[in-house]
Amino acid sequence: MAQQGEGLLSPRSDTPLKYWLSWLAWPGLFTLCMVLTGIAFSFDLPIMGFIFSYIVLIVSLFFLERFMPHEHDWLEPDGQTFADIAHTLTTKGTVQTLFLFAGVIGLSELFTPATAQGYGVLGAELWPRSWPLGLQVAFAVVVSEFFLYWSHRTAHEIPILWRFHAVHHSVTRLWFVNTGRFHFMDSLYRVLMGMIPLTLLGAPMEVLQWLAAVTAFIGMLTHCNVEMRFGWLSYVFNTPGLHRWHHSRDIKEGNKNYGENVVLWDILFRTFINPQDRRPPVNVGISEFMPAKFTHQLLWPFLNKEKRKDFKTKAPGMGRAAKSSDA
Ligand SMILES: [Zn+2]
Ligand SMILES: [Zn+2]
Repeated sequence: MAQQGEGLLSPRSDTPLKYWLSWLAWPGLFTLCMVLTGIAFSFDLPIMGFIFSYIVLIVSLFFLERFMPHEHDWLEPDGQTFADIAHTLTTKGTVQTLFLFAGVIGLSELFTPATAQGYGVLGAELWPRSWPLGLQVAFAVVVSEFFLYWSHRTAHEIPILWRFHAVHHSVTRLWFVNTGRFHFMDSLYRVLMGMIPLTLLGAPMEVLQWLAAVTAFIGMLTHCNVEMRFGWLSYVFNTPGLHRWHHSRDIKEGNKNYGENVVLWDILFRTFINPQDRRPPVNVGISEFMPAKFTHQLLWPFLNKEKRKDFKTKAPGMGRAAKSSDA
């Protein structure tokens, strides 16, 4: 297997320290987060442990992005920081509300007795509860990934779904802050697609919490602007090296690498790319119009052709014009 385009890496990783960090950063940070979360689980503090690990990851990426960026251009403000954070918060709020609503209408009571004993809602014992926890989490990652893969792929291939997913792809640089930049409708679709099958199979809550943690850590790493090497890891996990191709303006590259955590389904359904002869594109984004303001981005997917035309004349779009303002 070819090593990850070593001759194509940025000269910014030319010192021995940066060279070794570029190899160690992805596996090191991912392992650190998993170990911290594991310790917290053993003390019965899964949420606290997850939040602490997430903060450690954010702080590490903040410094690494400045110390050894993958693209210097991506350190420049793009006028979207406020929108990135606002989408992240709206999305998290929507998902939390959904879980709360599920509790209020009694859905959780419907599922809990079944999941607590490893039974699916149909009454059959579908979940392999006797397996070691690590293996159950790995199984959950692979099973949920099948649904996440297809929800992501359909978000690219079905125009009505792309309207919402385009908000994520409209960014012109990748960094850890735009990890959670999804239109809330897009997130809702993806979260439901990923979680419902596992709940129906009777996956225990502890497995679902681990799956959520793995998805959060890999997602944050996927968007970071840190010069990293991955080698064989890119043939198992969704690494930043793969996801940068997914943000290409060229749809021959952009409509590839749909994996959220692992790349198994991309390989099986032939949408996996990992070119070794060139660096991923610097000029990421979409070729269509996207309004620059957060509130306009929320509205944009709902507008019909006529309204969009009208809107375009009044609202500034993303790109150069947006760089002057960060709101
Ligand atoms: Zn996408
Ligand atoms: Zn992305």
